[in-house]
Parts: sequence; C-alpha cells; structure tokens
Amino acid sequence: MTATQTHCPYCALQCGMTLTPEIPRVRLEPADFPVNRGGLCAKGFSAADLLDHPDRLLTPLVRKEPGNRDSPLREASWEEAYSLIVAAIGKSRERYGNDSVGAFGGGGLTNEKAYALGKFVRVALRSSAIDYNGRFCMSSAATAANRSLGVDRGLPFPLADVAKARTVLLVGANPADAMPPSMQYLDEGRAAGAKHIVVDPRRTNTAAGAYLHLQPSPGTDLALANGLLHIALKEGLVDSAFVEERTEGFAGVRAAVNSYWPERVERITGVPEAQLRETVRLLATETPSMILTARGAEQHSNGTDTAQAWLNLALALGLVGRPFSGYGTITGQGNGQGGREHGQKADQLPGYRRLDDPAARAHVAGVWGIDPDELPMPGLSAYEMLDRLGTDGGVRVLMVLASNIAVSAPHSNHVIERLRSLDFLVVSDIFESETAALADVVLPTAQWAEEEGTMTNLEGRVLRRRRALPPPPMVKPDLTVLADLAELLGRGRFFTDDPRAVFDELRRASAGGLADYNGITWERIDAEQGVFWPCPSEDHPGTPRLFADGFPRPGGRAKFIRVEHRDAAELPDTTYPYVLTTGRNMQHYQSGTQTRRVKALTVALPEPRAEIHPDLARRHGIADGDLVELRSRRGAATLRARLSDGIRPDTVFAPFHWPGANALTNPALDPHSKMPAFKVCAVSIAPAAPEGTQIR
Ligand code: SF4
Repeated sequence: MTATQTHCPYCALQCGMTLTPEIPRVRLEPADFPVNRGGLCAKGFSAADLLDHPDRLLTPLVRKEPGNRDSPLREASWEEAYSLIVAAIGKSRERYGNDSVGAFGGGGLTNEKAYALGKFVRVALRSSAIDYNGRFCMSSAATAANRSLGVDRGLPFPLADVAKARTVLLVGANPADAMPPSMQYLDEGRAAGAKHIVVDPRRTNTAAGAYLHLQPSPGTDLALANGLLHIALKEGLVDSAFVEERTEGFAGVRAAVNSYWPERVERITGVPEAQLRETVRLLATETPSMILTARGAEQHSNGTDTAQAWLNLALALGLVGRPFSGYGTITGQGNGQGGREHGQKADQLPGYRRLDDPAARAHVAGVWGIDPDELPMPGLSAYEMLDRLGTDGGVRVLMVLASNIAVSAPHSNHVIERLRSLDFLVVSDIFESETAALADVVLPTAQWAEEEGTMTNLEGRVLRRRRALPPPPMVKPDLTVLADLAELLGRGRFFTDDPRAVFDELRRASAGGLADYNGITWERIDAEQGVFWPCPSEDHPGTPRLFADGFPRPGGRAKFIRVEHRDAAELPDTTYPYVLTTGRNMQHYQSGTQTRRVKALTVALPEPRAEIHPDLARRHGIADGDLVELRSRRGAATLRARLSDGIRPDTVFAPFHWPGANALTNPALDPHSKMPAFKVCAVSIAPAAPEGTQIR
C-alpha cells in the first residue's frame, strides 16, 4: 500500500504524519517534518480513529417533518437535501433580501475551502453575511499586529527559532498541553541555558517547567505589560536606537506607561514587584528574547489593546525583526492562519485584502470575473451575526461549515436560541455535532485524510494536505457542495471543486496582497517542505522571517499605540464573587466534536473538570471529585471539581471542549477585533446534586 505524507487534522502546529491504507483501517505514523520532527501528541496519534467511527455521517440528513426541528433527522439523498437548501435560500432572498442568507466558517477549513466559502457567499449568494470561528480565536492579536506591524502572521519566524532565544516570555499560552510537540524547541532552549517566563493565572504544565511563573488576575495583562515597559524606561533598558530608527509613536506610549509604577501594577495584577523587575531585565539583557502571546492574553473585551501592550514592550526593547527574537502569537486552530487570510472574514477579500478597499475589490473581482460593484460591502462579525439570527435584518438562512457554534460561541444558551429561531439551518460536518443536531439539513463532509488541499500553519508555512483514501461513497467534500449549490443557484460558472484549480485561483487572487501566495505551487510545497508567505513569484524563496528590513506600513516603520488598562467587562461582585477563565485540556480539541469520540482520549479525560483552589473549595464545602455548580449572569453548568493549588484562589478554570463552559461566558466584544470576553466572567460556585454534568 502507498504511504501518503500529510498533516494532523487538529491544531496549527500541523504536525507531519504518514498514512498507509491497511485493512481494515489506516496506519498512522509520525513523520520527520521540520515542525514536529517526528513528534505527535495523543490527539494526532489517534486522529485516524475517526475515519471509520460508527458515529460518522454517511448520508445527508433532513427532518422527517420539514420545518419541524423537533422531528427526528432521517437519511436523504443529495438531490433532496440540495433542493431543500436551494428552496430555502430562494424564499429568503425573495422575502428578505440577499443578506438574509449567510454562512459561518471555521479555522479548520483548508485554504481552498475558506477561499471558496468567502467567494460563494459574495458571488453565489450575493450576501455580505459571512464570518467564522477564528473571530473567537485569533482576531485580537491579528488586529493588533495589523495596525502596529502592518501585517498579521502569527509567528513571523520559524518555530525552530524559539530554541535559539535566551529568554522567552509566554503570555496566556500553554503549549505543553495545547501542542506538546512544540515543547521540544522550548526544551532545547532550556537545555542550552535559556530562561522561560510564563504569564498565566494557572500553574499549567508549561508554567510548571518555566524559570519564572507570573500569576496575574485574569484580565490584567495589559497593566502588566505597561508596568514592564514602565520599569524598562526607568532602568534604561529601552532600545532607543531601534525605537528611533524603526518605529513611530513612542512618545504617546511613554507618557501612558508613566502611571504604571510597580506598586500600582502589583495592586492591579497581583504580580510581585520583584518578579516584574526580573522579567523585564531578562527580556532586555538576556537576548535574543521573544514575547509570545496566545488566547489567555487575547480573548478579552480589551484583547486587541492587551496584545498591543505586549507588542509595545517588544518594540521598545528592540526585539522585533532581529534573529531569534521578536513578538509572535501562537495560532490555535489547524488552519487558523490561512483561514484568516483568504476571505471568510466579514470584512475581507483573499490575500488579507480589505473588502472596503476599491483597489482590492477591483483586483479580486477581476480574478473572479465579476463586476466589482457586484461585491457586497463588509458584514457583521461572528457574534454580532449570531446575536441577530432570525431577527428583522438578521440572517434567516445559515450555512455552517467546520464549526460547532452551539458549544464554542460565548453565551451559548442565547446562541442556541438564535439558531433555533432561524428559518433554515444547514450544517456540514463529519459528525452530528451539537450544532448539526439543530439543523434542518445536515451534510456529511469528507475528513482530512480524504481530501486534497493546503493549510497554513502557525509559522505562515503553507503545507499540503494530501488525500490518502477516498471518502465514503455518499460523502462529498465541501468544495463539491459549494460548487454544486452555486450551479443550482445559477452561478456555477464561477466555481470548481478541483482543489488544485481553486488553489491556483487563490494564488492569483492573493497576488500583490499582504498574504501573497502567488509564487507557491504544489510542487514547491512538496520539494521545500512547505513555503512561507509572502511569496510573490515562483522564483521568490518565500519569507520565513519577517521585518528584518522594515515593516509593511507607510514609511516602513512599526507603530506604537498607546493603550490603557481598563477593568474587565464583568467583575466579581457579591452574587458572582469569582472569576471564571476558560481554556484547553491536553486530550481534547476545540468544541470536542472529534476528540470526544476518540476512545483513547475520553478514557484519559472523560469529562470536564472545574479547576478550583483548595482554599476556595474548603470555603464552599467542596472536595476533589465533587460536582459543583458554576453560575454566571447568563447560565449555569455543573462540572466535577478538580482541586489544585496551581490556580489563584479567586479564579475558577473550566475547559471549553464540552457544552457548559460557554453557557457562562460573557459575549462583551472587543471594540476593534470583535473578540468576545471568553477569558473573564464573574461566577458563583456551590456544591451540586450528584446527577452528572448539566447545562441550564
Ligand atoms: Fe496534531 Fe497539534 Fe497534536 Fe501536532 S500538536 S499532533 S498538530 S494536535
């Protein structure tokens, strides 16, 4: 049997793996790819278990009684499913206009599917209503990087550079659990004497191995970063030559951080002054050094400003654009990077172009063969769109691809209510997710090992996902579904389901944009083990490291932006006296649609655990393993307690891989990125009756 080199279906590390078809199933082995270098985590090792999983959707499903979502789903032909979808789209467009039909995409879609979905909504549906779950992941760091550095590429250097840094500051990042094979680079650095500092309200596995662990109160990272810059200024640690030659706007930031003296920052964050001083001294003197943020810093109603505060610090210390040094953000979802570049965002065209930019509209319309005036203007961001589903002026017919928003969206009970209020819901997935269970039509889609495509990993390295085996007979890849539906809507001439042809069109559409893929071909990806964008022509080597010579901004300078601490959108009070923060476990991925079905992973971690400090547990009469009820202003969830002295006594942690955590979270949005405040909301805690996990 022929072995196929491909990549893991889960996170943005995109570990290389080899699949060999065997009877009765596929053999999966780690590959010696430059990112994972032969490593895989438990999720990657067990990924092939889902290919022939008994829960796999193998035919389209429709409601036994059309229009009644309480009636059971039954198997249907593709013709029947398509005719129901096209009829619902036609009716809605006629009655409410084009924007009443929309789509919600995902950061797990290949570049081709993300690109085709954006084009489908704008060209086939003629609607502005599209956004995706990456809005809930990367949008704050992306917004900050765009406005400050001129471009957002999660890591502007190869991951291997991390091993060469002598100081690494990880803010709200837990790679030891989220992407274990990446730890080899941190371990290598540590073995060579590097010092790692982790900023996290929990003593995660990453924090436990670090030289220094700063444990701020959730939602106070901005004050922490400003406080570090205050100390850097006072101690003469700012790289004045770098600031002078390569940046602009420092005066405003210097004035702003003047009021972040260490005692005040210690009061706001809870981080002792001595730790603040040691951190900034290490970053400034034990060089090269890096600052890496992740969702812990970014998923806040001030997430953009918080990411900006860390960027300001990195710029002031002169870290950016130097070897083995800089600022980066660690992308989470499998194609979280490529998925945010090619047009499934509400305001975006392929290649990181803006939908409201006349030149960008003209370029992309030219590639698509349409009049630029046919392109709609930007639509609403993810939560704004979900919040208005089924209302006057909102989306009434929604297509969801690669996203389980009933579990992953904030204030999930409200989102479920909005999904129920839709006139028509179509969900494409490999399993009947919690969102698919609400749909009028469920479409069975191909899995990663059954399709061709490209993915862009957390380093901006464009990779090939290769097909190792065909999908089951009645299962169609999403590209085929989009092309079929476009044909039925009379716009088929603009679409193809050939992944290579879609990629070649994406290359042309992205040409000249910030995320320029024009010079990247399948052959080059094969020969070079991935190609880093921007890569404007086939004779261009690609760009593993950004910013060495300048920033893609007017004048070539990076921009400091003044940012100020403000309280989280919701603070503890007497009714809800504690802070809930959410995050990941090592064994599970995203909303758990896949990993909750893998036996090896569910045996290792069968249910969500609320992490609680023993002092807090004692105060409420809670023992390890007891069921506890967490309650916020929006809902309640019952989880089993896991006592840990590694978490702050005023903070509770809940994983988001199961329904529950997001029944509690606050949908307050960051004004710049529209990121919801996943990482901070106020909750109460109480012992619960021993009846299993429940959500209300
Ligand atoms: Fe897959 Fe990420 Fe695990 Fe690698 S680290 S095996 S990409 S889930």
